[in-house]
Amino acid sequence: MTTQSVVFLFVLTLAAGFFALNVQRLVSYLHVGHAEGRTDHPLTRIRNVLEIGIAQKKILRDPVAGPMHALIFWGFMVLTAGTVEILVAGVFPSFSYALFLPKAVYAAYSASQDIFAALVILAVGFALYRRIVLHPKRLEGDNLEHTDALIILSMIMGLMVTLIIGTGFLLAAHPDAFGPEKVVSRPLAIVFGHLISPDAAMTGFHVFWWAHALLILVFLNYLPYSKHLHVASSLINVFFSNTSGPGQKGVMRYMDLEADVEHFGASDVEHLSWKNLLDGYSCTECGRCTAACPANITGKPLSPRKIIVNTRQRLMEKAPVMTNDRMEFLRPALLHGEGADAGAATVEEVMEHRLMDTYITEEELWACTSCRACVTECPVSIDQLDVINELRRNLVLTESRFPDELQPVFESLERNGSPWAFNPGDRADWAQGMNIRTMAELHEKGERPDVLFWVGCMGSFDDRAKKITVAFARILQSCDISFAILGQEEHCHGDPARRMGNEYLYQTLAKDTIETLDRYQVTTIVTHCPHCFHQMGNEFPQLGGNYEVIHHSTYIERLLQMDRVPLKTAEGTKLTVAYHDSCYLGRYNDVYDAPRESMRRALPVINLVEPPRSKDRGLCCGAGGGRMFMEENTGKRINVERTEELLATGADAIAVACPFCMTMMTDGVKASGSEVPVFDISEVVAGQLRS
Ligand code: SF4
Ligand code: SF4
Repeated sequence: MTTQSVVFLFVLTLAAGFFALNVQRLVSYLHVGHAEGRTDHPLTRIRNVLEIGIAQKKILRDPVAGPMHALIFWGFMVLTAGTVEILVAGVFPSFSYALFLPKAVYAAYSASQDIFAALVILAVGFALYRRIVLHPKRLEGDNLEHTDALIILSMIMGLMVTLIIGTGFLLAAHPDAFGPEKVVSRPLAIVFGHLISPDAAMTGFHVFWWAHALLILVFLNYLPYSKHLHVASSLINVFFSNTSGPGQKGVMRYMDLEADVEHFGASDVEHLSWKNLLDGYSCTECGRCTAACPANITGKPLSPRKIIVNTRQRLMEKAPVMTNDRMEFLRPALLHGEGADAGAATVEEVMEHRLMDTYITEEELWACTSCRACVTECPVSIDQLDVINELRRNLVLTESRFPDELQPVFESLERNGSPWAFNPGDRADWAQGMNIRTMAELHEKGERPDVLFWVGCMGSFDDRAKKITVAFARILQSCDISFAILGQEEHCHGDPARRMGNEYLYQTLAKDTIETLDRYQVTTIVTHCPHCFHQMGNEFPQLGGNYEVIHHSTYIERLLQMDRVPLKTAEGTKLTVAYHDSCYLGRYNDVYDAPRESMRRALPVINLVEPPRSKDRGLCCGAGGGRMFMEENTGKRINVERTEELLATGADAIAVACPFCMTMMTDGVKASGSEVPVFDISEVVAGQLRS
């Protein structure tokens, strides 16, 4: 070993040891959160890592920043192989992959190092220009965050520059060190060869080699102190995310209300799971979630990015105390970013603080519509909504803190079995004169229908939504579908209570519903409400209710495909329609085509137009997450923002596939002074029935 390699081994050991210490510390902080299994569906998880992590599927949705970031990421992956070679060669100078790789493979690898280094330089140059000159709104943060980003980008730039220049010097001194594959550093070597002697070039190589190697070690050890920790944690985070499996999207955590817990939901980091805390490590503070958040867009005080950054800030404040971490002065900072700086100086102050109230306010939490735009946008599969839901649960169940408007909703759900104070006896009034049978009537005769038509509270009581119910029932009848309703035996399954944090009320209502469904041996349910569709299909299994639940858009599309719907010939001028995607149908369940296709098949003269935000980027109507029942006093109304966007398409009509969206869009149209009609997709199809 040479003196140089002994010195390098010493530096490498020191740097690797310090990094390992911080990794061990960060992992120990995760244990502050509660345990949670995240290894089910391993193949889906691996696919997520390949698609979202490696292929950068979500990042590439942004046409400008996407390719830039993807290039840096892919460059990093390719150059990591070179980094390992450089570090090993620092200790064993004769080491090179060329010793064991076939010549052609080594040449390809060698070329990739040169080419990717140059591409990363271009991408980082653009990233710096964007941050310093363009200032995109979603990257707005505090000074510390901005400085951190500049430091990281500069370091990456430094790594690439030292790599290319160092290789250039080596080639100037020893032109045969590499073959013709060094297409970037070879021209540099020619320039150096004209300017300096081979000895001077060799000295230049050593200087740049050391600069490059030291920068690698500094970069590695800077990560735990920077939001760029995501470089190390994001692929792991994507693997453990639970946001992409079939029927898993947006499913709220099961809560065992009978377990011996004094604390329901979360008010501080120790009540969250280790995965919620890992989300904090993985946040790149890119702001994609906040830029898509309907509450934030319309001026409410909610920012999903802040929710995650605050969770991380609080973890970094409390975890050292909880884990008895004595090397506080060395602990990873990660404290900067949007939101509160609690600034606790003493252990007592740290323990007086908590995530709820010290960092996150009630107003922020209740502004959420549970639309999942944040989760869908996040390039590293962070689940911001899970934290919001857990904090809401704590407020309602442990502290009895919720907006005044929710009290009558909870009471009505308990007393009337619906969020509104309607007479439960009127639930099936819409069906009068339609000759629709109830499950009880069929049961008495020893019969069972093929499907249960679950009407839902809106569809049963709201005058406008009742027309949707009638339209869908007419379609079922015209297709001779064997169906029945529960009639007065139907009551709310509790989804609104769950979304508003009242898990106790939810489970009471849901279990009661499951009991009724099982009593009638129901296997297949159709419904025109996406909230009922999601709740009964995806969340009832947590409580033992397993049914095939089909949204009416999918059901109608299937009937149309089978030519079972007796349609009249479409006539008249072309009708231009803008379809508004429901969050619980789209982002929660990936149903985007069925509503559009149903309308197209039933009314061939229809011309469907898309607003700028549609499908999985659709803007929420503002009614989800219990927002339907709360006042909207801050900022612009979300339904008005969305309706204006739909009207701007120039459509003759707006189509929806959700009774909640129907109310919000109808109100939005009125508020915009427009007279454009709003239809449910079943009304479009029912309007084409022959009789
Ligand atoms: S779920 Fe929707 S409203 Fe709630 S924080 Fe995320 S984007 Fe905002
Ligand atoms: S939570 Fe995800 S989308 Fe939001 S800022 Fe962090 S990384 Fe970006």
